[in-house]
Amino acid sequence: MTYYEKAATGDCGPDSGKHPWKNADLKLSPQAKWNKANPLALWAHAALRSALRKGLIEKEPCAVCGDPNSEAHHDPEAYDQPLAVTWLCRLHHKREHGRLRKGGA
Ligand SMILES: [Zn+2]
Repeated sequence: MTYYEKAATGDCGPDSGKHPWKNADLKLSPQAKWNKANPLALWAHAALRSALRKGLIEKEPCAVCGDPNSEAHHDPEAYDQPLAVTWLCRLHHKREHGRLRKGGA
C-alpha cells in the first residue's frame, strides 16, 4: 500500500456517504489528502523548513550519492523529531520510500 492509498482510506467509514460535505475530499489532490491524513508529518515538514530558514539545521548533500540537490527524508516512525532527517536526492529518496514500503517497517 502506498502512502497515498493509506491516506485515501483514512476518511471512509460507514458514514462517508451520509455527509455530502465530506465529498469535498474527492476533489483534493493525493498530496492534499495525504496532508490531511498525516498532520504530524505535515508539521514535521513545516518545522524543518522553519529550522532551515533560521539556520538551525543545514541542508546536506545526498547521504547515498552526494548530490547537493537533496531533500529531507523523514523516517515515518520519527515524525515527532522533525530535525531527525536523512538528506537524499530525489532518486534515493524515492528508493528509500520504495524500500520502506516493500520491507515493511
Ligand atoms: Zn542520491
